[in-house]
Amino acid sequence: MNFSLNDEQKMLIETVRRFIAEECQPLEDEIEQTGVFDNAKAQVLHNKAKALGLYGMNMPEDLGGGGLTNLDRILCEEQFGHTTDIIIRRAFGNVYEPLLHCKGEQVDRWLKPSIEGTRTCAITITEPGAGSDAAGIKTSAVKNDKGWVLNGGKHFISDGEWSDFFLVSAKTGEKEISMFMVDKGLAGFTVGKDQKMMGLRGTPHLELFFDNVQLEDVALLGEVGQGFKLAMGALNVVRLAQVGARAVGKASHVCEIMVGWANERKQFNTRIGDFQMVQQMIADSVIEINAARWMVYHAAWMLDQGMDAREQIAMVKVHAAETLGRVVDRAVQVFGGMGFCKELPIERYYRDARIYRIFDGTSEIHRGVIAKSAMKKGAVLFDVNR
Ligand SMILES: Cc1cc2nc3c(=O)[nH]c(=O)nc-3n(C[C@H](O)[C@H](O)[C@H](O)COP(=O)(O)OP(=O)(O)OC[C@H]3O[C@@H](n4cnc5c(N)ncnc54)[C@H](O)[C@@H]3O)c2cc1C
Repeated sequence: MNFSLNDEQKMLIETVRRFIAEECQPLEDEIEQTGVFDNAKAQVLHNKAKALGLYGMNMPEDLGGGGLTNLDRILCEEQFGHTTDIIIRRAFGNVYEPLLHCKGEQVDRWLKPSIEGTRTCAITITEPGAGSDAAGIKTSAVKNDKGWVLNGGKHFISDGEWSDFFLVSAKTGEKEISMFMVDKGLAGFTVGKDQKMMGLRGTPHLELFFDNVQLEDVALLGEVGQGFKLAMGALNVVRLAQVGARAVGKASHVCEIMVGWANERKQFNTRIGDFQMVQQMIADSVIEINAARWMVYHAAWMLDQGMDAREQIAMVKVHAAETLGRVVDRAVQVFGGMGFCKELPIERYYRDARIYRIFDGTSEIHRGVIAKSAMKKGAVLFDVNR
């Protein structure tokens, strides 16, 4: 067992950490104030990030991606947690793993441009009537002689405005879900309103409507009926990287600011960090962040060993998201009135953290998965070498 980072990993972390501090964090306030990330500024950031060689970092090197292992990717994602969602989307992209199922003509049309960053993709599973029950979707694709006819709609689609195409899950039979690559601009495909959220300012979350959208045969990703597996496989990695690792990074960021305040803020002629009740909030945050981090690293290591990490990722999703929630809540408390006041970013971190327990499977759904596995498999889920 070796818990140390090698020199390349340390350098990777420092490179991303510096990029976040110098290029990303200075952009946050304006996005928070205006609710949008200016396109020209986003393009400049994108170009700078690409020069780091980390765009599409999860994609194979021979296709132009970063070729990082899961663990190395996670180390970057943890640093990404130190800034906001939309900035990371523009800088480093979001190339979903199911795209690796592209074959033939699909490779040049959808996969390679996504890795190059010339086309952007969003994943669309959720519908107004089907959230946690992702298999309960109503969107359907029916075969015709030109390909497939898509009908239905999605909502809450992150970054749908910027995206050029969408990975859409659709029913192709009574109990069969397939996945399609749907280009924006096709006849019958309309983008609805931006659904305003409590946090994540700058990231649009859109409704999508499909009204007899004619798709070519080549729009089918993978095999007919493979869509649910592809969607869940994609979400598994997203949960670990974009929820688990980023939650740890965000909690670390907030904790550092909280500790700084506890050191500086004086009441009753003493640092508030000298009061034991404040110390408890700091200590519990440090303990929980460290526990969550090692869970994230361990699950990433399992993926790199080719092991099935679904249960570990479910545990990460719950623990890292809830750790972040507790840490930001304590930070508001330690900051007192200034934690609630918009003059400091603490209240923003509090709002931004809330979604982590909801998207990509709620805490309740993941607890259900973990409990069912524990009842089926027993000690193997919580005891070493069993
Ligand atoms: C900011 C944001 C971004 C998002 N981005 C995307 C995206 O890009 N693409 C996409 O496809 N989706 C996206 N989503 C959707 C997101 O994944 C869903 O909101 C989430 O899966 C929960 O579904 P729901 O909102 O329909 O809640 P529901 O499924 O209606 O759940 C409501 C409550 O019931 C509980 N519940 C439901 N079923 C069970 C059960 N079996 N056992 C116990 N409790 C249960 C839930 O835990 C929750 O507390 C996004 C959502 C938000 C808010």
